[in-house]
Amino acid sequence: MSQERRFSFEFFPAKTEAGHEKLLATARQLAGYKPDFFSCTYGAGGSTRDRTLQTVLQLDGEVKVPTAPHLSCVGDSKAELRALLAHYKDAGIQRIVALRGDLPSGMGMASGELRYANELVEFIRAETGDHFHIEVAAYPEVHPQARNFESDLANFVRKVKAGADSAITQYFFNADSYFHFVERAQKLGVEIPIVPGIMPITNYSKLARFSDACGAEIPRWIRKQLEAYGDDIPSIQAFGEQVITEMCERLLEGGAPGLHFYTLNQAEPSLALWNNLQLPR
Ligand code: FAD
Repeated sequence: MSQERRFSFEFFPAKTEAGHEKLLATARQLAGYKPDFFSCTYGAGGSTRDRTLQTVLQLDGEVKVPTAPHLSCVGDSKAELRALLAHYKDAGIQRIVALRGDLPSGMGMASGELRYANELVEFIRAETGDHFHIEVAAYPEVHPQARNFESDLANFVRKVKAGADSAITQYFFNADSYFHFVERAQKLGVEIPIVPGIMPITNYSKLARFSDACGAEIPRWIRKQLEAYGDDIPSIQAFGEQVITEMCERLLEGGAPGLHFYTLNQAEPSLALWNNLQLPR
C-alpha cells in the first residue's frame, strides 16, 4: 500500500441555487485545509448529470481543489458515458469514482449497457487509457445485494483487476470490519489503497434511515445512546464526534491510507474530526 496518506471530502450536487451557494461556501472553507481532492456524487440514471458536471467543473476550476466526479453506469448508455468522460478529460479532470449506482425507485429495471462497476472500470480504461485515476467502492460490511462476504469480495477484486487505482469504502462504525476486509483483499493480491469512508454523526433519525438502506450497521451501544438523546442535537453531535474521532484514530494507527469524509455539504462536522485528529493543513 502507498505510504502517502490522502484526505478527501465528498459533496452531492445541490438541487437549488441557494443549496449550490451553500455548497460552494462549504467547499471554500474545506479547501483551506488542503485536502488531496474533492468528489461529487452522481444520480444513477443521469438524474444529476448536468448538476454533477457543473459542480465538478466549478470546484475544480474556481475553488481550485482537484475534483473527482462520481460516475455510475446503471441506466446510462455507453454513448452518454463516453460523452461525459470526454468532457471531463477535456476539462483536465484526472480522477473519477466509478460505480454501478442505484437507480432511484420508479426508474424501473436497469437500462444501461454496463451492469456492474467492473464493466464501467473496463470501459473507462478502454475509452481513455490511463488518463484517469479510477476509484471504486468497497464494502467492509458487505454490499446489501451481495450473496455473501466472499462473493462480494470476489466482485471487489474484479474491479481492481479491471484497472481501479484505489478504493473508498462505504461508511461503517466498526473499525474491525475495515481491517478484516483489507486483510482479506490483500490475501487475494489487492495492493491498491482502500480508504475508509467516514460519515460524521449529526442526526440520528437520518443516519438510521441511510444506514438501513446502504447496509451500514450502527452498533447497539451507539444506537442506544443516540436514541436516548432524543431531540437533544448538541448531545448527539458531541457523542458522535467522540465516537467517530476514536474510530478514525484506530483506523489511522492501524494503517488506513487516509480518510474520505462524507460531508453531506456541511463543513463543521468533518472539520471537527479533522481538527481532533490533528490532520495536516
Ligand atoms: P458493484 O461493484 O457493481 O457491486 C454491486 C453489487 O453487485 C454487489 O452486491 C456486488 O457483489 C455485485 N457484483 C459486482 N460485480 C458483479 C459481477 N460482475 N457479477 C455479479 N455480481 C456482481 N451511488 C450513486 O448512485 N451515486 C454516487 O455518486 C455514489 N457514490 C458512492 C461513493 C462511494 C464511496 C460508495 C461506497 C458508494 C456510492 N454510491 C453511489 C452507492 C453505490 O452506487 C451503490 O452501493 C450500488 O448499489 C453499488 O455500486 P458499486 O459500484 O459498488 O457496484
